[in-house]
Amino acid sequence: MSPPTRASYRDIPLYAPSKARCRVDLSDNTNLFGLPPAAERVLRETTATQVGRYPVGYSPDLRQAVARYTGMDPAQVTTGCGSDDVIDCTLRAFLEPGELIAYPSPTFVMMSYFAKVNGLRYAPVRLRPDFDIDVDGLLATGAKLIYVCSPNNPTGTVASRAALERLVDTAPGLVLIDEAYAEFARDSHLDLARRPNVLVTRTLSKAFGLAAMRVGYAVGAPGLVAEVEKARGPYKVTGLSERMAVAALTEDVPWMRARADEALAVRARLVEELARLGLSCLPTEANFVMVPLRGAPAVAETMRARDVNVRAFAGLPGIGDALRIGCGPWNVMQAALDALREALP
Ligand code: PMP
Repeated sequence: MSPPTRASYRDIPLYAPSKARCRVDLSDNTNLFGLPPAAERVLRETTATQVGRYPVGYSPDLRQAVARYTGMDPAQVTTGCGSDDVIDCTLRAFLEPGELIAYPSPTFVMMSYFAKVNGLRYAPVRLRPDFDIDVDGLLATGAKLIYVCSPNNPTGTVASRAALERLVDTAPGLVLIDEAYAEFARDSHLDLARRPNVLVTRTLSKAFGLAAMRVGYAVGAPGLVAEVEKARGPYKVTGLSERMAVAALTEDVPWMRARADEALAVRARLVEELARLGLSCLPTEANFVMVPLRGAPAVAETMRARDVNVRAFAGLPGIGDALRIGCGPWNVMQAALDALREALP
């Protein structure tokens, strides 16, 4: 007998980026400059007795710490097992199966995945040629939730403030702004989370260097946050992750700022080196660059054989094939550039 599966769900594959274990891994835009010191101290000082009991439900200490870091009230903060989880919970909290979400394309690949898993329909709307979001196109879908990632993964480009404001002012439903890379960008749109129809998600996985601890959060109106909390459930963030994230948000902000600035300096140097190879990058405000390059998947494959992992994309709308390269310490970038030089057709 075949298992009693859900028809619209059965054929969804696992999310499987080419995650070859390479000596140099620039494929996931994480912080390659080390572990925030206060978070590391918590990790070292954690005792056996601290792992035998449940954490306090709904992670109140983490909500407090995020509230202080973002200048919000704890009632305006929800948290989760990475911002992946916060996004997934948001979809479950606000949309019935069969309802529609819209997002610019290309964007964070997990959006179509989360839509499918939650039985939702989804409408990708191409980024404009200048890489700003197409507000009219997004609104024309009539979607109940519109997702915008800025700086955008995988392009690194940003949505303009004017476009975001018009979207928030006129969207019929919820606007979910993903600021996973906010700490690297010139501007933040966190203030839009004070509107009644906006949630802004962020993560400790990128600038704060805690990807393995899986901590993300969203800020927004208390009424919206309360709905997401129900979908999240009480114990989504582990006790250790909560304590490490609280330490990082409270004591390691200067550490994070310095590492983020370092990543931006590396990025500027990388853009120059790529130009020397005849490659131009999209205008980026994240800790990675997108390089349009015909045959990018084959180039990435050759780079992997030289122990360097970068992310390749094929046939992106309006862009074509491209590599996405994260920024780490310069000796790492040097190894990546050497591998790229050898791999170029
Ligand atoms: N949003 C964007 C745009 C991302 O790039 C990522 C990580 N790849 C996430 C959300 C999820 O990050 P996490 O679950 O680690 O917080």
